[in-house]
Amino acid sequence: MTTQTDITVIGGGIVGLSVALGLLDAGQRVTVLDGADGDLRASQGNFGLVWLQGKGARYPAYAHWTSKAVAAWPEFAATLSDISGMDVKLEQPGGYEFFTDETEFAEFSGDLALQKEALVDDLPCETLSGEAVRRRIPSLGPAVVGATYCARDGHVNPLLLLRALGRAVRRRGGLVEQSVHVDQISPTPGGGFALRDRQGQLRHTGRLVLCAGLGAMTLAPQLGFRTKVRPQRGELLITEKLGSHLPFLSSTIRQVNEGGIQIGGTKAEVGLDDNDTLGKTAGLARHAVDVLPALASVSVLRSWGALRIMTGDGYPVYARSPDHPDACLVTCHSGVTLAPNHAGALAKWIEGASDAPELDPFDEHRFKISEAA
Ligand SMILES: Cc1cc2nc3c(=O)[nH]c(=O)nc-3n(C[C@H](O)[C@H](O)[C@H](O)COP(=O)(O)OP(=O)(O)OC[C@H]3O[C@@H](n4cnc5c(N)ncnc54)[C@H](O)[C@@H]3O)c2cc1C
Repeated sequence: MTTQTDITVIGGGIVGLSVALGLLDAGQRVTVLDGADGDLRASQGNFGLVWLQGKGARYPAYAHWTSKAVAAWPEFAATLSDISGMDVKLEQPGGYEFFTDETEFAEFSGDLALQKEALVDDLPCETLSGEAVRRRIPSLGPAVVGATYCARDGHVNPLLLLRALGRAVRRRGGLVEQSVHVDQISPTPGGGFALRDRQGQLRHTGRLVLCAGLGAMTLAPQLGFRTKVRPQRGELLITEKLGSHLPFLSSTIRQVNEGGIQIGGTKAEVGLDDNDTLGKTAGLARHAVDVLPALASVSVLRSWGALRIMTGDGYPVYARSPDHPDACLVTCHSGVTLAPNHAGALAKWIEGASDAPELDPFDEHRFKISEAA
């Protein structure tokens, strides 16, 4: 059976659905092909931060891109709510990074100073000694040696975001096909691509955006992309629901809208293994109690692991295939934070519109072929 569409997005995670929404707004007929439930899906296991501090300290283009996304979030959440009827629980109260290690505190403070140079007035942040931050939040533990605070940081409910995006894409007229795992992409004579799925079914598309998360490990080389994505495991915990309000939002401890305290996130290079481990989750719990001793009496309900999708340098890749310009690759870490950009400015870039943003710093030509091999 053969199906036709203007533009096909491969991957129905937060990134693929955001991109699809932007393309639909731009008037395209869009089909999203999304793999199976058992796939590795960062969009179902992440921490939900909409976070600016620390991003792009050594890569100003990324600092600016993230700053633009964070600024766009309130309007994006409102639009998403209008289309989908769902509230993604966006809050942007400002957020902390807490440190229990002097060296890490000094290093991060240095990074923040660099990021501030890049963003000038757009990074309202403070660096606070342990004493200063305890004056502000008296329940913090004595192990906290320092903290940084950025008034623009926030969070959402990432599962609601995923569902809202899916619903919005459908309501805007997009077709989302689930359990379609694309195995093979072949350029067709005269333009376009033939997509063969795991069941052997063929679909044809004029243009294509590859947003398959870790699926890009096998699909991107088929289109001549040199970007290599790799998995990086993060582990997280969630506690029982609390009636009381957590007195802060931080990058490692946040209260989700249902009331539980979510604690994260570790980093480990362990290939495609997304299991959680007792050693890492115990370390997370220790860190949380060091920061906020009152958490010692709160029960942990669940722990899980999920795989980040990392490029060679950790920054997004927005690239057109060198061999097939009708195919784009879109991949990033921080797809929650960047969702408004992916649903907005990026669509113009994919379309090649004259008012598209300058995204050259995110092209894959920054990777040497030797690094990509
Ligand atoms: C532990 C952890 C914490 C994180 N915390 C944050 C955070 O606080 N803030 C933030 O902004 N970001 C965070 N992230 C990153 C964020 O979750 C990701 O950037 C985002 O979810 C990536 O979305 P995606 O759509 O690219 O990938 P995925 O969610 O992995 O989706 C890829 C989709 O492609 C489909 N697919 C794969 N291969 C194929 C194929 N061959 N054919 C068809 N479909 C295919 C899969 O089924 C899947 O649905 C975190 C990630 C992790 C793992």
